[in-house]
Amino acid sequence: MNIAIIGAGFTGLSVAYRLLQSGHNVTIFEKDPQPGGLAIGYQEKGWEWTMEAFYHHWFTNDASILGLAEELNFPVIIKRPKTSSLIDGKIYQLDSPRTLLSFAKLSFSERVQMGVVLAFLRFNPFWRPLEKVSATKFLSKTVGKNAYELLWKPLLMSKFGKYTESISLAWFWARIVKRTTNLAYPKGGFLRFAQHLAKVIQKKGGSIQYNVSVENISEKNGKVSLGKQGTFNKVIVTLPSFAFLKLAPSLPSDYQKSLMQLKGLGAVVVIMRLKRPFFTDGTYWLNVCEPGAPILAVVEHTNFMDSKHYNNEHLIYLGHYLPKEHTYFSLSAEDLLKTLDPFLRRLNPEYNKSLIGLKKFSVPFAQPIIPINYSRQVPSMITPFQNVYLANIQQVYPWDRGTNYAVELGEQVAGVIMKK
Ligand SMILES: Cc1cc2nc3c(=O)[nH]c(=O)nc-3n(C[C@H](O)[C@H](O)[C@H](O)COP(=O)(O)OP(=O)(O)OC[C@H]3O[C@@H](n4cnc5c(N)ncnc54)[C@H](O)[C@@H]3O)c2cc1C
Repeated sequence: MNIAIIGAGFTGLSVAYRLLQSGHNVTIFEKDPQPGGLAIGYQEKGWEWTMEAFYHHWFTNDASILGLAEELNFPVIIKRPKTSSLIDGKIYQLDSPRTLLSFAKLSFSERVQMGVVLAFLRFNPFWRPLEKVSATKFLSKTVGKNAYELLWKPLLMSKFGKYTESISLAWFWARIVKRTTNLAYPKGGFLRFAQHLAKVIQKKGGSIQYNVSVENISEKNGKVSLGKQGTFNKVIVTLPSFAFLKLAPSLPSDYQKSLMQLKGLGAVVVIMRLKRPFFTDGTYWLNVCEPGAPILAVVEHTNFMDSKHYNNEHLIYLGHYLPKEHTYFSLSAEDLLKTLDPFLRRLNPEYNKSLIGLKKFSVPFAQPIIPINYSRQVPSMITPFQNVYLANIQQVYPWDRGTNYAVELGEQVAGVIMKK
């Protein structure tokens, strides 16, 4: 069968790899010059490794992608970096039961109460009943007033803004269940891993056409046309649902309506290259738990992966999830840094003295909104076009998006096609 895949992110690459293993002809069309999608990386002059445009790591229980790396003999590094939270202007390491139990902003009984609730979520395998309740309602009633107001409410509000109240407890459950204190990272960066997988695909006879943006999808007599890119027996679309609709305007209107109900946030990231570390306490990831803070997270990548791979530079992400209309999307990296500067100076008054470079990345759809009872809304892989399949970031429920689930999804959609 002649199969086309739109998108060379980890879903597209994984489905291509599996379909080639079972003898199909596969062509991937990718609008960017490199594979990797949302996990794409780049490399500055003098760097030995690549780094992601948007901060990325794996949890050590991300079995699908770690299994794929092993299958492909790709080296993976496992480390225990420090994750902290900024609360009332102070940084607290909060990334394990031990650090939670010594969190001085809560009384001993409040810490125990929060620990019991988090343990209940972590060890409860039944997520379905949880999806009926909102995360804010559950947490505000169970973890204790102080823990909710200091930690969870500001975090949820900064991440989800106007959607906060609608976020399902199942989403929160998935975050708690998946978190591991050790984190994993592909040696050389996610771009290197994606390039390696792309090479394997090409060696197996698959074709990857970069810098090709598919503009139209239509179906006639069971054959799928991608306009200039030709006609195929089957097509797999790995783009977010709203982008799929733009390419296929002849899809039935009730289907279009159902996909348009799915909401999401974009992401904006500024990457600072510094001569000296930003954090003095070795923090890799800082959650900003401050209502009204101009940013959600400060991530010092080189407190996870050694700065020697990046010409001894110290690399810091300043990240936020925002609706795509937000002004941050249209600001230059320099202007956005000016906006963030008063906040950053509170964390490190001298950071800008060692600033040697600045880059900004943004994407209009990065974080699906998972409301109450999302299982009723998850789009199917089967679409109204008989031979067009949808496999995207909005289908990995109850899990949150991630390259691990992109690999899983790729394997699932390959399975659906091979059964037909
Ligand atoms: C800020 C941020 C932080 C993240 N952190 C992590 C993390 O720590 N760990 C983790 O595992 N995951 C993380 N993720 C999530 C992860 O990146 C995604 O879940 C995963 O990469 C999705 O892969 P995908 O292939 O499904 O989609 P995508 O990566 O979106 O791939 C879709 C591809 O389609 C291409 N495309 C779009 N339109 C067209 C067109 N018309 N024609 C041809 N090609 C087209 C795009 O260029 C893209 O390459 C993060 C994401 C973001 C944004």
